[in-house]
Amino acid sequence: EAKRRGGSSYHWYSADLDAGMQHQIELRTQLQEAIQAEQFELFYQPIVDVNGQPRAVEALVRWRHPEKGYISPGEFIPLAEATGQIIAIADWVFRQACSDAETLLGTGLETISINFSPLQFYRDDFIENVNDILTEFAIQPGQLTIEITENVFMRDSNNMIALLHKLRELGLGISIDDFGTGFASLSYLNQLPVDGLKIDQSFIHNVDSTRRNSAITRGVLAIASELDIRTVAEGVETEAERAYVLEHGCDLMQGYLFCHPQPLAEVLDWIKKQQAQS
Ligand code: C2E
Ligand code: MG
Ligand code: MG
Ligand code: MG
Repeated sequence: EAKRRGGSSYHWYSADLDAGMQHQIELRTQLQEAIQAEQFELFYQPIVDVNGQPRAVEALVRWRHPEKGYISPGEFIPLAEATGQIIAIADWVFRQACSDAETLLGTGLETISINFSPLQFYRDDFIENVNDILTEFAIQPGQLTIEITENVFMRDSNNMIALLHKLRELGLGISIDDFGTGFASLSYLNQLPVDGLKIDQSFIHNVDSTRRNSAITRGVLAIASELDIRTVAEGVETEAERAYVLEHGCDLMQGYLFCHPQPLAEVLDWIKKQQAQS
């Protein structure tokens, strides 16, 4: 916004920049406190099949700020990725999800999805760390799905692909998140040990009535089906969107139409209610 006002007023530009930077620095300090005080919570959102039955849940982190209330990951994850604080947050998320896993899986869910940032893959002990936590919480690797975005492949893609193969060998599920918005080309799909592909919500939005979105969605569904990759439509909000993706062979869906992300107890209630209706 500062840029759009033009270079005619240098003072405005630099004042805006300072305010923005100050906010970032403040947030970074508060985030450090949040890590120390574990001011995070995991919400869960069900992923449902064609019959509306829950098959999986995705863990979505929230920051419960002492004054500002819940802060969404869209606000602090990018900052945490830039500062490296994501490593500590990711550790907390992974452990919390594993500690909630027994109850969640007890309802009959197949898997729990966790979002992984590219930076996590750069730890020297990446695979070891994953293995240790699975052992500590007595979780079968097949009961976890790692969600990564295409941006994972922006740097050192050969190393990333090798690490994904190792995760797969351990038995974990791997899903590409926000598919279609990132950097990777379709040819990656052939080299990757991927089980799932989540079509980004920007394509699902009005998929039934927007030509561009329906063309992209149908294309992705066709390719995934040929490659035996399971598909999830993200951000399904309307009955028309649901009907459209199902008609074109989408396997699973996630979105406000079914259930918002919620704390563990609430999502467990929702799952049980849903199962009672089948
Ligand atoms: P994502 O992994 O693509 O998660 C889906 C996002 O879409 C979530 O936003 C979810 O609340 C939202 N959503 C679900 N259904 C609908 C719908 O019907 N309509 C709309 N408009 N939105 C819907 P959320 O929870 O704010 O998370 C945003 C992003 O933050 C996530 O996108 C993910 O990239 C990142 N994130 C969340 N938790 C973690 C985490 O533990 N680790 C990392 N690295 N990233 C995380
Ligand atoms: Mg995700
Ligand atoms: Mg997504
Ligand atoms: Mg997203």
